[in-house]
Amino acid sequence: MREKEAETNKDIKAKLSPKKFVKNPIKGTKYTIMVSSAKGGVGKSTFAINIAFALQNLGCKVGFLDADIHGPSLPKLIAINEKPKTEDGKFLIPIEKYGAQFISMGFLIDEVTPMIWRGPMVISAIKTLTQRVMWKDLDFIVVDMPPGTGDAQLTFAQEVKVDGSIIISTPQDLALMDVKRGVQMFDKTKVKIIGLVDNMSFFKGDDGKNYNIFGEGGVEKTAKEFNKRFLGKIPINIELREASDLGLPLVYKKPDHEVSKVFLNIASKIREDFP
Ligand code: ADP
Repeated sequence: MREKEAETNKDIKAKLSPKKFVKNPIKGTKYTIMVSSAKGGVGKSTFAINIAFALQNLGCKVGFLDADIHGPSLPKLIAINEKPKTEDGKFLIPIEKYGAQFISMGFLIDEVTPMIWRGPMVISAIKTLTQRVMWKDLDFIVVDMPPGTGDAQLTFAQEVKVDGSIIISTPQDLALMDVKRGVQMFDKTKVKIIGLVDNMSFFKGDDGKNYNIFGEGGVEKTAKEFNKRFLGKIPINIELREASDLGLPLVYKKPDHEVSKVFLNIASKIREDFP
């Protein structure tokens, strides 16, 4: 009797929900997680590529989907410049490098084409990237999202089965105001927020002291305010930037580096959520 009552309550709740989303899973992976940020330039792509290799370091098979329409980062971050092959002209075959699989929005467009896509074009490109790629036996796909809460993000959140989202921010107040908007978007579209990350959190000087260049504690405070998990602080680190510029992510190149250890620690928290 109780069970029946619970079922009925569930039905009513479903009918009352303002919009029902049909979410298609990306095939070939167990989990899809997205890395997002409210603004550009906060280190979202740097985080995404390094967390992908941190998950790989923990024994996961990883794919990386660069969905940043406003400035695809894959050619730079991982130095892949070739175009992917297709199967029957219909499906894209991901490019493999360092044991991971990669697909980029940049593969679908001409490098010099300005990224002034209108809504329908963005939506169609996202459909290609999420439904027409032959990923092979992955545990995780890490999606590097464009910044903000525009068409691309909404299409993803509403139409693709995403298992979780990580929000990256710097500790500045301005960035945090937008982070709150992102948190609300994911909550409304029922995408689980795995947690928030504080990037460029502090700089460790030669004197061994930590300097809070962009302020202190803001991201952690926002996480608390919204009852979300705070995943960790990534320092400003020259080697992290240099490794990214060379197309050889720090976590892959030097897994024992103190900054790589921060990524590995965050990756193990993600694994706890998706065993
Ligand atoms: P976004 O994807 O948010 O636009 P990027 O990941 O492209 O940002 O990072 C912007 C720039 O900042 C890049 O040059 C990157 O190497 C650098 N960067 C990001 N995070 C850090 C960090 N923790 N320490 C040093 N440089 C960083």
